[in-house]
Amino acid sequence: MAYKKPICECGEELLFEVEEVQVVQYEILKNGFVAKRPFHKGIHGDNNWGVLVCNTCRKQYEFNRSFVGKDKFKMLRDEEIS
Ligand SMILES: [Zn+2]
Repeated sequence: MAYKKPICECGEELLFEVEEVQVVQYEILKNGFVAKRPFHKGIHGDNNWGVLVCNTCRKQYEFNRSFVGKDKFKMLRDEEIS
């Protein structure tokens, strides 16, 4: 069966939306102040599970995955989130 991109009920293509949280570390200086420039920055993804959204009508859907390998998968649309 040929793969079809997840489509909203209104006909628009859905986007995968996930919240990515940036974690920043700062050094504390000898005088007790916090350094202005970050010591380390990192993106910690997967903070929420992610949803499929339609930018036209704002509907949201759960997503499902169709695995094609160990870590590779294709996105599928699941139930609408009300
Ligand atoms: Zn829509």
